Amino acid sequence: MKKYWLLLMIPLLYFTSCRKDHDFVESSNMEEEQAYDDITSLTLYDVSNNDISLIKDYEVDKSLQLFQVDKSRHFTMWHFVIDLIPLKYRDKITQFEIFYGYDDVAGYVIEQEDLGSWKLALAIDFVEDFNNIDAGGEFTALVLHEYGHILTLNDTQVTASEEEESCNTYFPGEGCSLTGSYLYPFYQLGWADIIDDRAIDNPDRLYNKYPDRFVSDYAATNPAEDIAEVVTQFIMQDKPVGNSIADQKIKLLYDFPELVELREDIRVEVPVVAKRNASYKPKRSYTCGCRGCRKIK
Ligand SMILES: [Zn+2]
Repeated sequence: MKKYWLLLMIPLLYFTSCRKDHDFVESSNMEEEQAYDDITSLTLYDVSNNDISLIKDYEVDKSLQLFQVDKSRHFTMWHFVIDLIPLKYRDKITQFEIFYGYDDVAGYVIEQEDLGSWKLALAIDFVEDFNNIDAGGEFTALVLHEYGHILTLNDTQVTASEEEESCNTYFPGEGCSLTGSYLYPFYQLGWADIIDDRAIDNPDRLYNKYPDRFVSDYAATNPAEDIAEVVTQFIMQDKPVGNSIADQKIKLLYDFPELVELREDIRVEVPVVAKRNASYKPKRSYTCGCRGCRKIK
């Protein structure tokens, strides 16, 4: 997997907030709408336990049809997901999409049914060598990041029907986080006192101001992206020994016994190379926004 370092700022500037008054989430309920203008949806599958079945192939340009017909690749990617995340933790994932991300967008999730079910979408071009699908642990990190959104924003965590005005906890855009959710104490720990400092179109500014608060620069985008990044590191890396706010955010997840169990169950399947690569930071190869991730060029 190539590493991209140089144009770090450019994709970050592209993103906007994921709140409902912005474009992405608002459009997410539209079946045919794509999460980004610059991706092409290839194939949509229904998910039933460990199995996926074809719902449809989207109409695509001739140049992309070879990726659409390559169902064995689609299944390779799906099997990576189900090998990594045990079935009992995947009950909210009801659709799986393969898209072409133009070497840019790597994955995203879209909520359906008031946060009760989700579509997981992965870019077929994110993995360049399918014989070595997770060479540096990046694909593991990508899948865990996207899963982290579903884990922290589903209907057991966030009330979709509640409006921002009546929300007394934290409102990530999808609804109001419950008092006992993962996101609300996470917000209180690392965001409540700086939320007004957030520059929606420039998370780097917040990261540079408070670097010890974030596990990656992209985590400074908003609390929902931050917790997805933290979930990824919580699972992939050893428990931190430091006490920075970034460390405390990871340690916070250890306060939830079910997350500790989830971590242990998933880590059995996390490739050794990914766990060994303790210095891995998602920011170094891709960055994520509005429930999606893209490669850094
Ligand atoms: Zn994300």
